Formats: sequence, structure tokens, C-alpha cells
Amino acid sequence: MLSSSILKVYRCVRGRYPGAPCNQLQSRTFSTPPLGTAEVLDAGTRLELSHPRWPHTLALTYPWLRDHCRCPKCYNYKTFQRIHDVYKIPLNIRPASVKTSKDGVVIEWPDGHKSQYDYKFLWQNSFEGKRTSFKEQRVLWTAAKFPKEPLTTVPLSELTKPDKEGLKKLISSIMKYGFGFISEVPADVESTRAAVEQICPLKKTFYGEAWAMEANMEYADTAYSKERLGAHTDTTYFSQACRIQVFHCFLAADQGGENLLVDGFSVAKQFRDRHPEGYKFLSETAIPSEYIDEGRHHLSLDTIFKHNPATGRIKQFRYNIYDRAPLSSIPLEHMQEFYLHLRNLTSIIRNPKNEYWIKLEPGWIVGVAAAVNPSTGTGCCVPFLQKRVPPQEQLPEALQDTHRGEAFLLPFLRFSYHSEGKSQDPHAQCP
Ligand SMILES: [Zn+2]
Repeated sequence: MLSSSILKVYRCVRGRYPGAPCNQLQSRTFSTPPLGTAEVLDAGTRLELSHPRWPHTLALTYPWLRDHCRCPKCYNYKTFQRIHDVYKIPLNIRPASVKTSKDGVVIEWPDGHKSQYDYKFLWQNSFEGKRTSFKEQRVLWTAAKFPKEPLTTVPLSELTKPDKEGLKKLISSIMKYGFGFISEVPADVESTRAAVEQICPLKKTFYGEAWAMEANMEYADTAYSKERLGAHTDTTYFSQACRIQVFHCFLAADQGGENLLVDGFSVAKQFRDRHPEGYKFLSETAIPSEYIDEGRHHLSLDTIFKHNPATGRIKQFRYNIYDRAPLSSIPLEHMQEFYLHLRNLTSIIRNPKNEYWIKLEPGWIVGVAAAVNPSTGTGCCVPFLQKRVPPQEQLPEALQDTHRGEAFLLPFLRFSYHSEGKSQDPHAQCP
């Protein structure tokens, strides 16, 4: 229970909701609030709270407040699920009384139910509070501003420490820069899996949870060939493209086999600044992507840029020109625009200033964020990862067969995180 309660200034808007109880709100009590207590004002359909530590007033509607009661009758603290039926909340619900103290707000509802909210909960879970306290975590980079290794690399021994500091650093790197490295990992499947599972459960797709990737055509995918591919993101043909991909080089190449990282969110910003109409078009116009293999056909229709539906911030960049299906989703009058905008975007992606080439050695795992979990409200960059392969004519003759390039091209082990995966902490979601 709250230690001290002071009835504040209420203003009942009579007649707005006939029948709504507001007798107690007519009483006006003036008193000096204790330090850290909010002033409250009844503004008809909502409560306005002014707390000395908040930069602005917070307005919350009464149905929202009733819906967010966190008492044990309304909220199950074992399952972290709501109990109270939102359908039973009248749209014109008004409190019978409102009290504040230094601990929070207590509202008594007309049916006698009491709801208690601490200020932190209200601030952190309201639209306005969230928007005001939002801090940009993303650091956009170009090749010249590629983050230094100590910022992005965690040795496996640090990652597995019980204090979780190594894990925090790795996740923070993925959130900030869109990628992170784990070093000192034995170059075998089980060690790699164990290292990756420190963060999240693995996502299972038709590729499996983890699989070796080398220059053969085991899968009908150009990524398995020796062809040189431009920067792209993967699994655009899934309705939920993989959020994080992890690569571990098991066998170093003597020549070639470098990987390309491009910061997708940096590219998106450059494209939006230079071609705002193109950014809008590719954010609103869905294009189909597909994967076809024997007995399997995956097809997904989506936009290249995807945004957080609440904040409008970019949350995902889906760009894979190779996996595009026949383009039947754009009407004739917009087709020329599409090719123009795609061309302008591709030119920024392929600008050498945005390309950072890196050669992975056995023992080094790189995890790249292909998207951001929208529920976190924060973000990360979207790098592209691709092998750099010399043109075919430069390959030694013995390696020009697509099935014999393993020593030349890097065989990768690739993990995909479960998109809705959670870490050991049930409240902490994967980036
Ligand atoms: Zn309740």
C-alpha cells in the first residue's frame, strides 16, 4: 500500500459522459505534495500527471489505466499475462477517486476495484513516455568508420562467464553496429552451436538449425556456387526473414574468400536523404521473392524497407536481387519508377565507400543482424554478408569445377536465430 495519500486537484467535466461517476472528483484539495509526488488533473476522458522528475506531463486515458491495472486479480505474475477482460471495460469508465504519493498513483474504480501504478511503470509504458526517453542506439557506419575490433568482439571465454558482461557486450554490438564477433571458438559444429546458443535458441528452417555451406550446389542457391554475389540480405522468401545470421569459417582460404559487410541502415539513410521519393516507394511497394528447389517452393511478398508500425523507424531491410520472383505485384504505370528506384538504391549499396571487406579465420564467428525485433523498440544496423570470389577466369583450373572449390571458397557454417527467440531472462528479448 502507498505510504501517504494526498487528494489532488480534480476537475470533473460534467455531462461529457452522462452517468459517469465523478462525485469524488468534484472535491478539490490543495496541499503541498511530498517530494517526488505527481500532480494530477482529471481532464475528462483522461488523467494528466505531472511528476517533478518528468520533462513533461503524461496524459493517460481511463480505459488505458483500467486495462493496465497490475494487481494480482488483473495480471498473472507467474505467466506474465493479463487476466482482466478488456471487453468488460466501459469506454466511458471514470475513476471514483485518484490518490497520489511518492510511490505512485492509486485509482479506485466505480465497482470498488483498486489499481495501483508506480510512476516508472506509467512513464516506461506510455506512448509519450517511451517516445521522450528513447535513446538512439544505432551507430551507422561506412567503410571509413567501421567500428574498431575491441568494440565488437567478445572471446568465447568472456561470453560464457556467469556475470553475463560478455553476452551484454555482444548483444550491444549487434544492436549498435548490426554485427558482433565471437573469437576463440573451436572450429567445429558443436562448439559453434554452443557459442551461439549463449544468446538465443536457434531457428529451424528447411536448411536445419545449423549447416555447412560450401561451394557446391547441394541447395539450389547461388550462395552455394562460386559466383561472385553482390551485397544482399538472406531469406527474403520467408514471411519472416531471419533476424540474425551467424557464420563461422572452418577452413581459411589461401586466396579470396573475403566477406563483405555493408551497413544496411546506413545505406537506407543515404538513400532516403538522396531519393526520398524512392525511399517512400520502396517502403510501400511490395515485391515478391521466392526459393525453388526440388519439391519446395517458398514465396513471400514484402517491401524492401520495413518500419516499426508505432514509431515509423526502419526495422528491416530486405534486399536480395537474386531471389526476386517474377514481378507481378506492380502495375504498369509504376513499373518504370520501380526500376529507377531499385537502380538508385543498388548504386548506393555498391558504392565502395559503404563496403567493408573482412577475411574470417577459423575460430572467429560473426553474427549479423538481418532485422531488429520490433518489440524492443530499439534497433540495429543491417549488414550484408557475402563472400568475395575472384572472377571465374582467375580461378586455378582445378578449382573451376563448382564442386571442388572448398579450399578456395570459405565453407561456412550458418546459424539462424529463432525470430521470436528469448534469452534465459524471460523479459529480455533477442535483438
Ligand atoms: Zn486490478
